[in-house]
Amino acid sequence: MSFDIDKALQLLEQEVQNYQVPVVDLIAVQTHDPFKVLVATILSARTRDEVTAQAAARLFAKAPTPQALALLDEKTLQQLIFPVGFYKNKARYLTALPEVLEKQFSFQVPDEIEQLTSLPGVGRKTANLVRAQGFGKPAICVDTHVHRIMNIWGYVQTTNPLQTEMALREKLPEHYWIRVNSLLVAFGQGTCRPVGPHCDRCVLDTLCPRIGVTPRKLKLAKTKKQAGIKRLISWNVNGLRAVAKNGFVDIVRDLAPDILALQEIKALPEQLPESVREMAGFTSYFHSAQRKGYSGVAIYSREPAKKVYHGIGEQRFDEEGRVLTLEFGDFYLVNCYFPNSRHDLSRLELKQEFNCAVHKFVDDLARDKSVVICGDFNVAHTEIDLANPAANTKNAGFTPEERKWLDSYIEEGWIDTFRQYNQEPGQYSWWSYRSNARERNIGWRIDYFFVDSASKTRIVGADILADILGSDHCPVTLDFK
Ligand code: SF4
Repeated sequence: MSFDIDKALQLLEQEVQNYQVPVVDLIAVQTHDPFKVLVATILSARTRDEVTAQAAARLFAKAPTPQALALLDEKTLQQLIFPVGFYKNKARYLTALPEVLEKQFSFQVPDEIEQLTSLPGVGRKTANLVRAQGFGKPAICVDTHVHRIMNIWGYVQTTNPLQTEMALREKLPEHYWIRVNSLLVAFGQGTCRPVGPHCDRCVLDTLCPRIGVTPRKLKLAKTKKQAGIKRLISWNVNGLRAVAKNGFVDIVRDLAPDILALQEIKALPEQLPESVREMAGFTSYFHSAQRKGYSGVAIYSREPAKKVYHGIGEQRFDEEGRVLTLEFGDFYLVNCYFPNSRHDLSRLELKQEFNCAVHKFVDDLARDKSVVICGDFNVAHTEIDLANPAANTKNAGFTPEERKWLDSYIEEGWIDTFRQYNQEPGQYSWWSYRSNARERNIGWRIDYFFVDSASKTRIVGADILADILGSDHCPVTLDFK
């Protein structure tokens, strides 16, 4: 059955009304200026829209025209547009742009694809976007979202964006050409995401054949809940007050955990909004650091704990708010934020001491009943647990000492639950905020759920929810019976 493109695009028109407008469209609508659309499009490649918007605003304040741009040197341009992705290359293109525009086009941005692609830093995708958004002329800008989603729908069967553009030129009605990029970029960023598309809440649910798609699985299936299986989630939120302003309660509602363990809450309970401090449906437990705005862990549990342990009984660690343990009828949950050994490794020794203290703490608990230990361990275990192992062998989080400690943990029988289900590289839970690391999946797997060896048969599933945003870490899950 062929895909109903008219219906799909009509539905998306309604759907994306509440989505963020892609930055280049916004600049086109606000300025009606092909030069600004061209420059914003060059800046936007491999860069988040918020970063592009800020860099474009700084640049246009100094250089609203090609003539003004010609007065800025490359170094100044680098400073103005930083931190957009590949800012040095882009500054070089922008330095060369005014001269080419002057010599070949009398300082006017051209509107033909072949002319546009003769400009520095302008490829076919940029040229199509400038022609469509800057001039309102028919052109199909095929970026990664358009290419990907058109293939998911089976509307085209292509292997690269150029093939997709050519196929769409053949079959997509021309009145959709200009609009389709904006629609699918917004939709691809918001719902039909590259990793774990949100099919569970997609308006195209009944239309879409989902070719080659692995949808996200957020909630535990009802049958598993009925079988008494619990969904445990661990997430380093890197500031609970900040994530609270960005839909934390909605995210938790979507994820529907039975127990949610948070690290780096960086807050005292009284500093949190009531909706977060006492989240509906949960009993909440906090162990904040004495130092304000630092470290701290929390647990939300649907079932109240029998007993709560704050820390591990060593003041120098406990005052940093790093370990919170809940005791339930048949298991302990230990939520732990392991120290970072720092860039200069000045905290490596302390971290090793902390690791050993926690190790002893959980070994003691495991003599009594099952133990689940989760949190930000601040160490990638093996070479497949980070994107650039060779470059990081002497760096915090991948030093031989830290990895050896994790080895000893595993040698004793503690189980890295995620690796029970997934042996693939490229599965990360933390990405630097710099250099578009998350978009490029240059990350580390440093958040874990471990379970003691005697409880292996209680592990039902484990996953990484890489598409959940809000922190530089993403949540990791354990299904436990
Ligand atoms: S159903 Fe899933 S794959 Fe299809 S368009 Fe929606 S989010 Fe994308």
